[in-house]
Amino acid sequence: MNNKLRFFRSIHFKIALVFALMLLMTLEIVGAVFVNQLEQNNLSNFKSSIQPKQYLSNSLAQKLTMKNTKKANDEINSLLTDYNNGNSTVIYVTDANNTIRGSNSDQFKINQKGPYSEVKSVLAGGHFVKKSTIDGSDNNRYYTIISPLTRNQNNQPVGAIFIRGNLTPIYNDITGVTKIYLAAAVIAIMLGIIIAIVISRAITRPIDEMKKQTQQIARGDYSGHVDIYGDDELGDLADSINTLSYKIEESQESTESERRRLDSVLTNMTDGVLATDRRGNIIIANDKAYDFLNQNEENVIGHSILSTLGIQKKYTLRQLLENPKEITLNFSNSSRDLILHTQFSLIRHESGFISGLVCVLHDITEQQKIDADRKQFVSNVSHELRTPLTSVHSYLETLMEGAWKDKEFAPHFIGVAQNETNRMIRMVRDLLTLSRIDSNTQKLNMEMVNINELFNYILKQFDMIIKNKKTKGSYKIKKEITKDDLWVELDTDRFTQVIDNIMNNAMKYSPDGGTITCRLYENNNHVMLSISDQGMGIPKQALPHIFERFYRVDKARSRKQGGSGLGLAISKEVINSLGGKIWVESKEHHGSTFYISLPYEPMKEDLWDED
Ligand code: ADP
Repeated sequence: MNNKLRFFRSIHFKIALVFALMLLMTLEIVGAVFVNQLEQNNLSNFKSSIQPKQYLSNSLAQKLTMKNTKKANDEINSLLTDYNNGNSTVIYVTDANNTIRGSNSDQFKINQKGPYSEVKSVLAGGHFVKKSTIDGSDNNRYYTIISPLTRNQNNQPVGAIFIRGNLTPIYNDITGVTKIYLAAAVIAIMLGIIIAIVISRAITRPIDEMKKQTQQIARGDYSGHVDIYGDDELGDLADSINTLSYKIEESQESTESERRRLDSVLTNMTDGVLATDRRGNIIIANDKAYDFLNQNEENVIGHSILSTLGIQKKYTLRQLLENPKEITLNFSNSSRDLILHTQFSLIRHESGFISGLVCVLHDITEQQKIDADRKQFVSNVSHELRTPLTSVHSYLETLMEGAWKDKEFAPHFIGVAQNETNRMIRMVRDLLTLSRIDSNTQKLNMEMVNINELFNYILKQFDMIIKNKKTKGSYKIKKEITKDDLWVELDTDRFTQVIDNIMNNAMKYSPDGGTITCRLYENNNHVMLSISDQGMGIPKQALPHIFERFYRVDKARSRKQGGSGLGLAISKEVINSLGGKIWVESKEHHGSTFYISLPYEPMKEDLWDED
């Protein structure tokens, strides 16, 4: 039903209908004019053909005045017979008394009275009668002329001539022609309708195709193409639609690639980004923002930025819109430290209309930590230096005040001052080493070293120290060292400094002596080195801080033993710079084990063979 209705409303149907109606109207008008003209022509030809000619009228009038009636009647008859121009025409002639004097039809007998009263009135009045009649008996149309016959123009008629022609053949002819015309018209209309359908199809087919193509474009499918059938307006339109489709596809593609680029920029940003509508509800958030907020899309998109950032109590949306701020927010929880610097800016249209806010979340946890560490470091350094300086200063003051004369105390005071000064020198040296490492000005003197040999050599030095009893307590160094040569690329001096520090610590923090076990072995492309003592160990809570600068489990003990609290920090930096790792395992009162792993590539035998 719907389809049917659509068909009747279609241009296709309308063009065909208009075309057919126009053709019908044209044929109708042409037909009417033509048939009418034909009728007029035929009738006027017929009428003029049966009109009595002047010469006939004259000669009939003359015959009627002849004395010899018989002869006159014969001559009249012969004139009428000659004159008869067709079977359908009936002629008779009467004299002034309406007596028939001659005829071409048996219907009108000579010397009988004429049957028509009009003839009498013509004879009386001398006027003409011309009329069309329909005979009720045979339903034929007739045209009748009654003409007076006069000798002279203005004289009384001497008789009359009655002519009646049958019009039926003429009308039959016209009807025949009309029928032929109608048949031709019907054929013409049918052909016309077929042509109209073909033409309207030719017009509407490209329109249909273009309609389909535009619907396809609206659905976002640009693959179609309208065929161009001709060089006319429809061809131009089809061409324009093809160009339009191509242009839309192009701009769609560029918008899409722009969107993808923006997406990938947002996705790969190290900062979090939130964008809101003008009501402050979040409409865009990148992965980093979800990560920072520790929320999923569902809990962020469509929610207020104020509550999402947890600042709804401090700020209103109006405040942020009127004066976009930079706020530092603490998102730290038990599982992570996170401090975010949030910067708000407005999204403005060209017209100045504000359509929302953009908030960039920048992770400043590390920066804050570095700042705090730096402050802590400066305070540590000042503190570390102040203690020995104060002590040196007070000893020197006491000496100045006369104690230098005291032979018993003076050497002790001077000794303490010297120790403190040495400690400060060591500390400053360590600080300088760290500072060089930090600023990357520390040049590493890398060389291929057989670490097995080097470790043995260092441990031998400690054996000597222990033997010379330079240390308190009784120590024993136990070596569990592989027999293999392990060639590693490292800076010998720096590495020796690290082992020295760990060995010294092992002895320093094992006041009762004990066995120091030193191991060296190869493990999974790494050289593993460990030094275990049986000393006081490190409390669990101190383990994560042991490699921090100035960190000491027991400050007083460390200081007393001349430690700067920088040894392990330097060791860690050195091992890191050699591409290795250092860590500790320890249990309080049960000793500690320091591990060092260094990258190691076993030498290939054939390399030596080649040499
Ligand atoms: P220090 O100069 O104080 O020895 P280090 O950086 O070498 O500084 O060591 C830092 C701290 O680690 C020490 O103060 C000590 O508390 C702890 N420590 C280091 N080695 C050991 C060990 N073998 N046993 C117990 N504690 C240790």
